[in-house]
Amino acid sequence: MNLLYANDRPGAYPPSWYAATAEPLPPFAPLQGEVRADVCVVGGGYTGLTAALALAEAGQDVVLIEAHRVGFGASGRNGGQVGSGQRLEQDALEALVGPDDARHLWQIAEYAKAEVARLIAAHGIDAGYRPGVAHAERHEREMAGLSAHADHLESAYGYTQIEVMGREAFRALVPSGAFAGGAVDWGAGHLHPLRYCLGLARAAAAAGVRVFERSPAHRIERGLVATDRGRVRADQVILAANGYLGGLEPVTAAHVMPINNFIVATAPLGDRAREVLTRDIAVADSNFVVNYWRLSEDGRLLFGGGESYGYRFPRDIAAVVRKPMLGIYPGLADVAIDYAWGGTLAITMNRMPYLAQPAPGIWAAGGYSGHGVALASLAGRILAEAVGGTRARFDVMARVPVQRFPGGRGFRNPLLALAMTWYAMRDRLGI
Ligand SMILES: Cc1cc2nc3c(=O)[nH]c(=O)nc-3n(C[C@H](O)[C@H](O)[C@H](O)COP(=O)(O)OP(=O)(O)OC[C@H]3O[C@@H](n4cnc5c(N)ncnc54)[C@H](O)[C@@H]3O)c2cc1C
Repeated sequence: MNLLYANDRPGAYPPSWYAATAEPLPPFAPLQGEVRADVCVVGGGYTGLTAALALAEAGQDVVLIEAHRVGFGASGRNGGQVGSGQRLEQDALEALVGPDDARHLWQIAEYAKAEVARLIAAHGIDAGYRPGVAHAERHEREMAGLSAHADHLESAYGYTQIEVMGREAFRALVPSGAFAGGAVDWGAGHLHPLRYCLGLARAAAAAGVRVFERSPAHRIERGLVATDRGRVRADQVILAANGYLGGLEPVTAAHVMPINNFIVATAPLGDRAREVLTRDIAVADSNFVVNYWRLSEDGRLLFGGGESYGYRFPRDIAAVVRKPMLGIYPGLADVAIDYAWGGTLAITMNRMPYLAQPAPGIWAAGGYSGHGVALASLAGRILAEAVGGTRARFDVMARVPVQRFPGGRGFRNPLLALAMTWYAMRDRLGI
Protein backbone atom coordinates (compact mmCIF):
# COMPACT_ATOMS: atom_id res chain seq x y z
CA MET A 1 0.00 0.00 0.00
CA ASN A 2 1.42 3.36 -1.01
CA LEU A 3 0.39 6.09 1.42
CA LEU A 4 0.67 8.69 -1.33
CA TYR A 5 -2.50 7.21 -2.82
CA ALA A 6 -4.18 5.45 0.14
CA ASN A 7 -6.51 8.16 1.42
CA ASP A 8 -6.68 11.19 -0.85
CA ARG A 9 -7.65 12.12 -4.37
CA PRO A 10 -4.48 12.37 -6.50
CA GLY A 11 -3.36 15.94 -7.05
CA ALA A 12 -6.01 17.38 -4.70
CA TYR A 13 -5.87 18.88 -1.23
CA PRO A 14 -7.96 17.07 1.41
CA PRO A 15 -11.38 18.54 2.34
CA SER A 16 -9.96 20.58 5.22
CA TRP A 17 -10.93 23.94 6.64
CA TYR A 18 -7.41 24.98 5.65
CA ALA A 19 -7.94 24.15 1.97
CA ALA A 20 -11.27 26.00 2.10
CA THR A 21 -9.56 29.15 3.42
CA ALA A 22 -6.33 29.27 1.41
CA GLU A 23 -5.78 30.69 -2.06
CA PRO A 24 -4.30 27.79 -4.09
CA LEU A 25 -1.29 28.51 -6.26
CA PRO A 26 -1.65 28.03 -10.02
CA PRO A 27 -0.56 24.42 -10.64
CA PHE A 28 3.08 23.75 -11.49
CA ALA A 29 3.44 21.49 -14.55
CA PRO A 30 4.50 17.83 -14.15
CA LEU A 31 8.05 16.92 -15.01
CA GLN A 32 8.48 15.70 -18.60
CA GLY A 33 11.74 14.43 -20.03
CA GLU A 34 15.16 14.97 -18.55
CA VAL A 35 16.32 18.05 -16.63
CA ARG A 36 19.60 18.83 -14.89
CA ALA A 37 20.10 20.63 -11.58
CA ASP A 38 22.66 20.99 -8.82
CA VAL A 39 20.18 19.65 -6.27
CA CYS A 40 16.92 17.71 -6.63
CA VAL A 41 14.50 17.95 -3.71
CA VAL A 42 11.80 15.27 -3.38
CA GLY A 43 8.72 16.52 -1.50
CA GLY A 44 6.97 19.88 -1.32
CA GLY A 45 6.24 20.29 2.41
CA TYR A 46 8.07 22.50 4.91
CA THR A 47 11.25 20.40 4.78
CA GLY A 48 11.55 20.31 1.00
CA LEU A 49 10.44 23.88 0.36
CA THR A 50 12.72 25.46 2.97
CA ALA A 51 15.65 23.36 1.73
CA ALA A 52 14.97 24.39 -1.86
CA LEU A 53 14.50 28.05 -0.93
CA ALA A 54 17.72 28.21 1.09
CA LEU A 55 19.68 26.48 -1.68
CA ALA A 56 18.30 28.76 -4.39
CA GLU A 57 19.11 31.80 -2.26
CA ALA A 58 22.66 30.45 -1.98
CA GLY A 59 22.91 30.38 -5.77
CA GLN A 60 22.26 26.68 -6.42
CA ASP A 61 20.19 25.45 -9.34
CA VAL A 62 17.33 23.51 -7.70
CA VAL A 63 14.53 21.27 -8.97
CA LEU A 64 11.76 20.26 -6.54
CA ILE A 65 9.39 17.45 -7.42
CA GLU A 66 6.15 16.88 -5.57
CA ALA A 67 3.91 13.84 -6.06
CA HIS A 68 0.65 15.83 -5.74
CA ARG A 69 0.56 19.56 -4.96
CA VAL A 70 2.89 21.59 -2.76
CA GLY A 71 1.49 21.42 0.79
CA PHE A 72 -0.44 18.23 0.01
CA GLY A 73 1.18 16.33 2.92
CA ALA A 74 1.30 16.97 6.66
CA SER A 75 2.46 20.55 6.07
CA GLY A 76 -0.90 21.52 4.60
CA ARG A 77 -3.14 19.80 7.14
CA ASN A 78 -1.61 19.87 10.62
CA GLY A 79 -2.64 21.41 13.94
CA GLY A 80 -0.62 24.55 13.22
CA GLN A 81 1.16 24.56 16.57
CA VAL A 82 4.63 26.10 16.44
CA GLY A 83 6.02 24.47 19.57
CA SER A 84 9.12 25.17 21.63
CA GLY A 85 11.96 22.73 22.10
CA GLN A 86 12.32 19.31 20.58
CA ARG A 87 9.68 16.59 20.83
CA LEU A 88 11.66 15.10 23.75
CA GLU A 89 11.88 17.26 26.87
CA GLN A 90 15.24 18.78 27.73
CA ASP A 91 15.84 16.54 30.76
CA ALA A 92 15.35 13.46 28.57
CA LEU A 93 17.70 14.96 25.97
CA GLU A 94 20.34 15.70 28.61
CA ALA A 95 20.26 12.00 29.54
CA LEU A 96 20.28 10.90 25.89
CA VAL A 97 22.98 13.10 24.38
CA GLY A 98 24.67 14.86 27.32
CA PRO A 99 24.36 18.49 28.44
CA ASP A 100 26.31 20.10 25.58
CA ASP A 101 24.35 18.60 22.73
CA ALA A 102 21.11 19.01 24.71
CA ARG A 103 21.90 22.73 24.82
CA HIS A 104 22.62 22.79 21.07
CA LEU A 105 19.31 21.00 20.44
CA TRP A 106 17.43 23.54 22.56
CA GLN A 107 19.09 26.39 20.67
CA ILE A 108 18.27 24.78 17.32
CA ALA A 109 14.63 24.48 18.37
CA GLU A 110 14.52 28.11 19.51
CA TYR A 111 16.09 29.09 16.23
CA ALA A 112 13.43 27.02 14.41
CA LYS A 113 10.62 29.15 15.86
CA ALA A 114 12.53 32.30 14.93
CA GLU A 115 13.02 30.90 11.42
CA VAL A 116 9.25 30.47 11.00
CA ALA A 117 8.76 34.11 12.02
CA ARG A 118 11.56 35.24 9.71
CA LEU A 119 10.19 33.35 6.71
CA ILE A 120 6.69 34.73 7.30
CA ALA A 121 8.01 38.30 7.53
CA ALA A 122 10.58 38.05 4.73
CA HIS A 123 8.10 36.63 2.22
CA GLY A 124 4.97 38.47 3.37
CA ILE A 125 3.13 35.20 4.10
CA ASP A 126 -0.44 35.51 5.33
CA ALA A 127 -0.01 32.74 7.92
CA GLY A 128 -2.03 34.35 10.73
CA TYR A 129 0.54 33.59 13.43
CA ARG A 130 -0.72 34.11 16.99
CA PRO A 131 1.28 33.54 20.22
CA GLY A 132 0.44 31.09 23.00
CA VAL A 133 0.31 27.31 23.27
CA ALA A 134 -1.10 25.76 26.44
CA HIS A 135 -0.26 22.35 27.79
CA ALA A 136 -3.25 20.93 29.70
CA GLU A 137 -2.65 18.38 32.45
CA ARG A 138 -5.28 15.74 33.10
CA HIS A 139 -4.08 14.65 36.52
CA GLU A 140 -3.16 16.55 39.67
CA ARG A 141 -0.09 14.32 40.07
CA GLU A 142 1.32 15.73 36.79
CA MET A 143 1.29 19.35 38.00
CA ALA A 144 4.49 19.09 40.06
CA GLY A 145 6.31 17.76 36.99
CA LEU A 146 5.01 20.66 34.91
CA SER A 147 6.31 23.24 37.39
CA ALA A 148 9.66 21.44 37.63
CA HIS A 149 9.89 21.45 33.83
CA ALA A 150 9.23 25.21 33.64
CA ASP A 151 11.78 25.84 36.43
CA HIS A 152 14.39 23.72 34.65
CA LEU A 153 13.93 25.60 31.37
CA GLU A 154 14.34 28.88 33.23
CA SER A 155 17.37 27.94 35.33
CA ALA A 156 19.27 25.86 32.76
CA TYR A 157 18.26 27.57 29.49
CA GLY A 158 17.10 31.05 30.53
CA TYR A 159 13.65 30.43 29.04
CA THR A 160 11.07 32.52 30.91
CA GLN A 161 8.02 32.32 28.66
CA ILE A 162 6.11 29.59 30.49
CA GLU A 163 3.26 30.52 32.82
CA VAL A 164 2.13 27.64 35.06
CA MET A 165 -1.51 27.80 36.22
CA GLY A 166 -3.48 25.89 38.82
CA ARG A 167 -6.91 24.41 38.19
CA GLU A 168 -9.01 27.58 38.53
CA ALA A 169 -6.73 29.95 36.59
CA PHE A 170 -6.37 27.38 33.83
CA ARG A 171 -10.10 26.78 33.70
CA ALA A 172 -10.65 30.53 33.21
CA LEU A 173 -8.55 30.19 30.06
CA VAL A 174 -9.66 26.73 28.92
CA PRO A 175 -13.22 26.32 30.24
CA SER A 176 -13.32 22.54 30.58
CA GLY A 177 -13.62 20.41 33.70
CA ALA A 178 -11.19 17.86 32.29
CA PHE A 179 -7.96 19.43 33.53
CA ALA A 180 -6.12 19.73 36.84
CA GLY A 181 -4.21 22.77 35.56
CA GLY A 182 -1.69 23.58 32.88
CA ALA A 183 0.85 26.00 31.53
CA VAL A 184 0.93 28.47 28.65
CA ASP A 185 4.09 28.86 26.63
CA TRP A 186 3.90 32.41 25.31
CA GLY A 187 7.03 31.86 23.22
CA ALA A 188 5.20 29.23 21.14
CA GLY A 189 2.26 29.96 18.84
CA HIS A 190 -0.03 28.76 16.08
CA LEU A 191 -0.64 29.51 12.43
CA HIS A 192 -2.57 28.51 9.29
CA PRO A 193 -0.38 25.62 8.09
CA LEU A 194 -1.45 25.53 4.44
CA ARG A 195 -1.21 29.28 3.86
CA TYR A 196 2.23 29.16 5.44
CA CYS A 197 3.25 26.28 3.17
CA LEU A 198 1.89 27.89 0.01
CA GLY A 199 3.76 31.07 0.94
CA LEU A 200 6.98 29.06 1.17
CA ALA A 201 6.29 27.53 -2.25
CA ARG A 202 5.67 30.96 -3.77
CA ALA A 203 8.93 32.21 -2.23
CA ALA A 204 10.87 29.17 -3.50
CA ALA A 205 9.55 29.60 -7.04
CA ALA A 206 10.35 33.34 -6.92
CA ALA A 207 13.90 32.49 -5.83
CA GLY A 208 14.33 30.37 -8.96
CA VAL A 209 13.43 26.85 -7.78
CA ARG A 210 11.90 24.86 -10.65
CA VAL A 211 8.86 23.20 -9.04
CA PHE A 212 7.12 20.23 -10.67
CA GLU A 213 3.84 18.95 -9.23
CA ARG A 214 2.05 15.63 -9.89
CA SER A 215 5.52 14.15 -10.33
CA PRO A 216 6.04 11.24 -7.94
CA ALA A 217 9.62 9.98 -7.72
CA HIS A 218 9.64 6.23 -7.96
CA ARG A 219 13.39 5.61 -8.01
CA ILE A 220 16.37 7.45 -6.64
CA GLU A 221 20.02 6.67 -6.91
CA ARG A 222 23.14 8.74 -6.73
CA GLY A 223 22.81 11.52 -9.29
CA LEU A 224 19.37 10.52 -10.56
CA VAL A 225 15.71 10.82 -9.57
CA ALA A 226 13.19 9.13 -11.87
CA THR A 227 9.48 9.96 -12.11
CA ASP A 228 6.82 8.39 -14.37
CA ARG A 229 7.51 10.71 -17.25
CA GLY A 230 10.81 12.36 -16.43
CA ARG A 231 14.22 12.24 -14.83
CA VAL A 232 16.26 14.73 -12.85
CA ARG A 233 20.01 14.48 -13.01
CA ALA A 234 21.47 16.18 -9.94
CA ASP A 235 24.68 15.87 -7.94
CA GLN A 236 22.77 15.99 -4.66
CA VAL A 237 19.33 14.66 -3.75
CA ILE A 238 17.32 15.77 -0.71
CA LEU A 239 14.60 13.42 0.47
CA ALA A 240 11.80 15.35 2.15
CA ALA A 241 8.95 12.87 1.73
CA ASN A 242 8.40 12.30 5.49
CA GLY A 243 5.41 10.01 6.22
CA TYR A 244 4.86 9.32 2.52
CA LEU A 245 8.37 8.02 1.84
CA GLY A 246 7.34 4.36 1.49
CA GLY A 247 10.27 2.30 0.27
CA LEU A 248 11.87 5.02 -1.85
CA GLU A 249 15.09 4.93 0.19
CA PRO A 250 15.54 1.89 2.48
CA VAL A 251 17.84 3.32 5.17
CA THR A 252 15.56 6.28 5.86
CA ALA A 253 12.47 4.07 5.61
CA ALA A 254 13.83 1.84 8.39
CA HIS A 255 14.07 4.84 10.76
CA VAL A 256 10.73 6.57 10.21
CA MET A 257 7.24 5.19 10.39
CA PRO A 258 4.01 6.69 9.09
CA ILE A 259 1.03 7.21 11.37
CA ASN A 260 -2.26 8.95 10.70
CA ASN A 261 -3.87 11.70 12.76
CA PHE A 262 -7.21 13.48 12.39
CA ILE A 263 -8.75 16.94 12.76
CA VAL A 264 -12.27 18.36 12.61
CA ALA A 265 -13.59 21.90 12.25
CA THR A 266 -16.96 22.58 13.83
CA ALA A 267 -19.52 25.04 12.50
CA PRO A 268 -18.72 28.63 13.58
CA LEU A 269 -19.45 28.91 17.32
CA GLY A 270 -20.25 32.62 17.49
CA ASP A 271 -20.50 33.73 21.15
CA ARG A 272 -20.11 30.12 22.27
CA ALA A 273 -16.44 30.28 21.29
CA ARG A 274 -15.84 31.56 24.81
CA GLU A 275 -17.05 28.19 26.14
CA VAL A 276 -13.98 26.70 24.43
CA LEU A 277 -11.19 29.23 24.92
CA THR A 278 -11.19 32.71 26.39
CA ARG A 279 -7.91 33.70 24.68
CA ASP A 280 -6.75 33.04 21.14
CA ILE A 281 -4.26 30.32 22.05
CA ALA A 282 -3.75 26.70 21.01
CA VAL A 283 -3.92 23.83 23.50
CA ALA A 284 -2.55 20.29 23.67
CA ASP A 285 -3.31 17.86 26.47
CA SER A 286 -1.20 15.29 28.29
CA ASN A 287 -2.76 12.16 26.74
CA PHE A 288 -0.46 9.70 24.98
CA VAL A 289 -2.67 10.14 21.92
CA VAL A 290 -2.57 13.90 22.22
CA ASN A 291 -5.73 16.00 21.79
CA TYR A 292 -5.04 19.49 20.47
CA TRP A 293 -7.29 22.37 19.62
CA ARG A 294 -7.72 26.08 18.98
CA LEU A 295 -10.20 28.47 17.43
CA SER A 296 -10.12 29.37 13.77
CA GLU A 297 -10.25 32.97 12.65
CA ASP A 298 -13.97 32.50 11.87
CA GLY A 299 -14.71 31.11 15.34
CA ARG A 300 -14.78 27.37 14.70
CA LEU A 301 -13.25 24.84 17.03
CA LEU A 302 -10.40 23.10 15.21
CA PHE A 303 -9.93 19.91 17.21
CA GLY A 304 -7.35 17.20 16.54
CA GLY A 305 -7.29 13.79 18.11
CA GLY A 306 -7.31 10.09 17.45
CA GLU A 307 -4.60 8.20 15.61
CA SER A 308 -4.61 5.13 13.45
CA TYR A 309 -1.68 2.90 12.71
CA GLY A 310 -3.02 1.05 9.69
CA TYR A 311 -2.67 2.71 6.30
CA ARG A 312 -6.29 3.67 5.76
CA PHE A 313 -8.12 6.56 7.38
CA PRO A 314 -11.32 5.54 9.20
CA ARG A 315 -14.48 5.89 7.10
CA ASP A 316 -16.09 8.37 9.52
CA ILE A 317 -13.29 10.66 10.71
CA ALA A 318 -15.76 13.11 12.29
CA ALA A 319 -17.15 10.38 14.56
CA VAL A 320 -13.64 9.33 15.64
CA VAL A 321 -12.61 12.88 16.59
CA ARG A 322 -15.96 13.91 18.05
CA LYS A 323 -15.47 11.42 20.92
CA PRO A 324 -12.38 13.03 22.53
CA MET A 325 -13.77 16.48 21.65
CA LEU A 326 -16.94 15.85 23.66
CA GLY A 327 -14.87 14.31 26.46
CA ILE A 328 -13.32 17.75 26.92
CA TYR A 329 -16.28 19.93 25.88
CA PRO A 330 -19.49 17.94 26.54
CA GLY A 331 -21.48 21.15 26.02
CA LEU A 332 -20.71 21.04 22.28
CA ALA A 333 -22.79 17.89 21.67
CA ASP A 334 -25.27 19.82 19.51
CA VAL A 335 -22.62 21.53 17.36
CA ALA A 336 -22.26 20.40 13.74
CA ILE A 337 -18.92 19.33 12.28
CA ASP A 338 -18.36 21.02 8.93
CA TYR A 339 -14.94 19.61 8.00
CA ALA A 340 -13.09 16.41 8.92
CA TRP A 341 -9.76 15.30 7.49
CA GLY A 342 -6.79 13.09 8.15
CA GLY A 343 -3.09 13.40 7.57
CA THR A 344 -0.02 11.20 7.59
CA LEU A 345 3.03 12.16 9.59
CA ALA A 346 6.18 10.25 10.45
CA ILE A 347 7.45 9.24 13.85
CA THR A 348 10.76 7.75 14.97
CA MET A 349 11.46 5.24 17.74
CA ASN A 350 12.48 7.90 20.28
CA ARG A 351 10.45 10.77 18.71
CA MET A 352 13.55 12.75 17.70
CA PRO A 353 13.80 13.79 14.04
CA TYR A 354 15.90 11.68 11.70
CA LEU A 355 18.46 13.78 9.81
CA ALA A 356 20.96 11.71 7.89
CA GLN A 357 23.02 11.18 4.81
CA PRO A 358 21.86 7.63 4.03
CA ALA A 359 24.11 7.30 0.97
CA PRO A 360 26.68 9.52 -0.77
CA GLY A 361 24.92 12.44 -2.44
CA ILE A 362 21.61 11.67 -0.73
CA TRP A 363 20.31 13.60 2.29
CA ALA A 364 17.16 13.03 4.31
CA ALA A 365 15.14 14.67 7.07
CA GLY A 366 11.86 13.56 8.58
CA GLY A 367 10.22 11.82 11.52
CA TYR A 368 9.45 15.00 13.48
CA SER A 369 6.88 12.98 15.44
CA GLY A 370 4.12 15.59 15.52
CA HIS A 371 6.51 18.47 16.27
CA GLY A 372 7.52 19.51 12.79
CA VAL A 373 6.00 22.88 11.95
CA ALA A 374 9.01 24.73 13.33
CA LEU A 375 11.60 21.97 13.15
CA ALA A 376 10.90 20.91 9.56
CA SER A 377 11.05 24.59 8.57
CA LEU A 378 14.58 24.72 9.94
CA ALA A 379 15.59 21.17 8.94
CA GLY A 380 15.33 22.20 5.30
CA ARG A 381 17.79 25.03 5.88
CA ILE A 382 20.06 22.70 7.89
CA LEU A 383 20.12 20.22 4.97
CA ALA A 384 20.83 23.08 2.57
CA GLU A 385 23.76 24.17 4.76
CA ALA A 386 25.11 20.60 4.84
CA VAL A 387 24.83 20.23 1.07
CA GLY A 388 26.82 23.48 0.84
CA GLY A 389 29.53 22.04 3.13
CA THR A 390 28.55 23.69 6.46
CA ARG A 391 27.70 20.76 8.68
CA ALA A 392 27.70 22.09 12.27
CA ARG A 393 23.93 22.06 12.85
CA PHE A 394 23.39 19.00 10.66
CA ASP A 395 25.94 17.08 12.73
CA VAL A 396 24.25 17.99 16.03
CA MET A 397 20.93 16.69 14.71
CA ALA A 398 22.41 13.68 12.93
CA ARG A 399 24.29 12.38 15.95
CA VAL A 400 21.15 12.10 18.07
CA PRO A 401 20.77 8.32 18.27
CA VAL A 402 17.59 7.38 16.40
CA GLN A 403 17.12 3.61 16.27
CA ARG A 404 15.71 1.58 13.41
CA PHE A 405 12.22 0.22 13.94
CA PRO A 406 12.42 -3.46 14.84
CA GLY A 407 11.14 -5.89 12.27
CA GLY A 408 11.83 -3.80 9.18
CA ARG A 409 9.19 -2.21 6.99
CA GLY A 410 7.01 -5.31 6.86
CA PHE A 411 6.59 -5.79 10.61
CA ARG A 412 6.88 -2.36 12.13
CA ASN A 413 3.28 -1.37 11.63
CA PRO A 414 1.56 -4.30 13.38
CA LEU A 415 4.06 -4.11 16.25
CA LEU A 416 3.61 -0.41 16.67
CA ALA A 417 -0.17 -0.70 16.38
CA LEU A 418 -0.15 -3.06 19.34
CA ALA A 419 2.00 -0.78 21.48
CA MET A 420 0.05 2.34 20.53
CA THR A 421 -3.29 0.69 21.16
CA TRP A 422 -2.11 -0.22 24.65
CA TYR A 423 -1.13 3.37 25.42
CA ALA A 424 -4.34 4.73 23.89
CA MET A 425 -6.28 2.34 26.16
CA ARG A 426 -4.40 3.74 29.15
CA ASP A 427 -5.60 7.22 28.11
CA ARG A 428 -9.18 6.02 28.05
CA LEU A 429 -8.86 4.33 31.43
CA GLY A 430 -7.15 7.40 32.88
CA ILE A 431 -4.09 5.47 34.14
C1 LIG B 1 -2.98 15.84 11.44
C2 LIG B 1 -1.60 16.35 11.78
C3 LIG B 1 -1.43 17.28 12.79
C4 LIG B 1 -0.16 17.76 13.10
N1 LIG B 1 -0.04 18.78 14.00
C5 LIG B 1 1.16 19.36 14.22
C6 LIG B 1 1.27 20.51 15.05
O1 LIG B 1 0.28 21.07 15.53
N2 LIG B 1 2.51 21.02 15.28
C7 LIG B 1 3.63 20.46 14.72
O2 LIG B 1 4.73 20.97 14.97
N3 LIG B 1 3.55 19.41 13.87
C8 LIG B 1 2.35 18.86 13.60
N4 LIG B 1 2.24 17.82 12.72
C9 LIG B 1 3.47 17.35 12.03
C10 LIG B 1 3.90 18.30 10.92
O3 LIG B 1 2.81 18.60 10.10
C11 LIG B 1 5.02 17.62 10.11
O4 LIG B 1 6.09 17.29 10.98
C12 LIG B 1 5.59 18.50 9.01
O5 LIG B 1 4.57 19.06 8.23
C13 LIG B 1 6.54 17.68 8.14
O6 LIG B 1 6.85 18.38 6.96
P1 LIG B 1 7.57 17.62 5.77
O7 LIG B 1 7.81 18.62 4.70
O8 LIG B 1 8.73 16.88 6.28
O9 LIG B 1 6.51 16.51 5.31
P2 LIG B 1 5.15 16.66 4.47
O10 LIG B 1 4.50 17.96 4.69
O11 LIG B 1 4.34 15.44 4.70
O12 LIG B 1 5.65 16.70 2.98
C14 LIG B 1 6.10 15.56 2.28
C15 LIG B 1 5.74 15.77 0.82
O13 LIG B 1 6.45 14.85 0.05
C16 LIG B 1 5.64 14.44 -1.03
N5 LIG B 1 6.14 13.15 -1.48
C17 LIG B 1 6.20 12.00 -0.78
N6 LIG B 1 6.72 11.01 -1.53
C18 LIG B 1 7.03 11.56 -2.72
C19 LIG B 1 7.61 11.05 -3.92
N7 LIG B 1 7.96 9.75 -4.03
N8 LIG B 1 7.79 11.89 -4.97
C20 LIG B 1 7.44 13.20 -4.86
N9 LIG B 1 6.88 13.73 -3.76
C21 LIG B 1 6.68 12.92 -2.69
C22 LIG B 1 4.24 14.34 -0.41
O14 LIG B 1 3.23 14.41 -1.37
C23 LIG B 1 4.25 15.53 0.55
O15 LIG B 1 3.68 16.69 -0.03
C24 LIG B 1 0.99 17.28 12.39
C25 LIG B 1 0.82 16.35 11.37
C26 LIG B 1 -0.46 15.89 11.06
C27 LIG B 1 -0.63 14.91 9.93
